[in-house]
Amino acid sequence: MRVMDEYTLLGRVVLRDRVAEKGAVCVRDGEIVYAGSAADAPFLSNVISETGTVMPGFVDIHCHAGGSTWFHEDPAACAEYHFIHGTTTVCATLYRDLGTEGIMNGIEAVRQAMNTCPTICGVHLEGPFLNPELGARSAKADIFADPAVYMPMLDCGILRHMTFAPEVEGTEQLMREMKKRGIAGSIGHSKASPEQVRRAVACGASNVTHLFDATGASISPTRWAGTLETDFNIAALSCEGLTYEIICDREGVHVRPEYVALVKRCAGAGSIIGITDACGGDGDGEEINFLDGELNGSKLTMNRVAANFRALGFSLPEIAAVTSLNPARLLRVDSTVGSLEAGKRADIVVLDDDFDVINVFKA
Ligand SMILES: [Zn+2]
Repeated sequence: MRVMDEYTLLGRVVLRDRVAEKGAVCVRDGEIVYAGSAADAPFLSNVISETGTVMPGFVDIHCHAGGSTWFHEDPAACAEYHFIHGTTTVCATLYRDLGTEGIMNGIEAVRQAMNTCPTICGVHLEGPFLNPELGARSAKADIFADPAVYMPMLDCGILRHMTFAPEVEGTEQLMREMKKRGIAGSIGHSKASPEQVRRAVACGASNVTHLFDATGASISPTRWAGTLETDFNIAALSCEGLTYEIICDREGVHVRPEYVALVKRCAGAGSIIGITDACGGDGDGEEINFLDGELNGSKLTMNRVAANFRALGFSLPEIAAVTSLNPARLLRVDSTVGSLEAGKRADIVVLDDDFDVINVFKA
């Protein structure tokens, strides 16, 4: 919603390290000038809402569709669908099955939409250099990362991060080229060996695309009875400095609750990025998408992702980190969004007790 130059939100205000139960967020000219206890607020004028949980607007770095529309078809409609569910920053995600030409056309559609949709911050390319055996829908076998294919993608100017499988030949050079341009490298759709994972990280990969989904092992399942081989996920979890995308659906279909607990224990909530991986489909209350009997992304919105992390015992500051600050860091926009702090942009969502959206603001 667009509002007056100066306003105040009251309620349970979620800060980085604590919750101000009787809190206030004061906004002037689209910028947060204060977030904390209402008793210390510099002004309490133009109060827009008085109840609810006030959180930083959600940042979704992995989202293909909104409602029944795909980002490559109608980016503006997708962005609006997620905005009303609290997402104030979104990476339009284009999947490998679009093909090279389809991806380039999708990039152009997103670029056009960015002129009028302030919530779209750019593109995430999920592919084309993924393990052909992993992920929904078929892919060509024997692929390699060809600079003639990826250089136009890297130089499009709006690419924010790209998912690749480290076992695909040529992806080390791809990662180096991304790093030069400040584009985040995400590894996923992969059966990479621990050595291949470590090499990708050494080349600059910083994020893991939907950990525990579309992943596998280079050796499986065991060489000696009673022992367990490592796999892509464990190799990635053992590396320092990575963030881990989690598709947190209500049923624990994409990621079992024990695995979420494992990631939190070993890497901390500060390293988890909640994503929707939304792939279209609307209106039936389900959170899971199936295609031809296979799991095919979700129908999630970020407020449901936040609710599902809460159900797994995450605190409100941890949920704000997972759904806003951590993804903002990956996109390098955390100096302006990602938390309720003076000086940041007034991208704010107000939720009720069920985490349904009462109000959402985009500065
Ligand atoms: Zn995806």
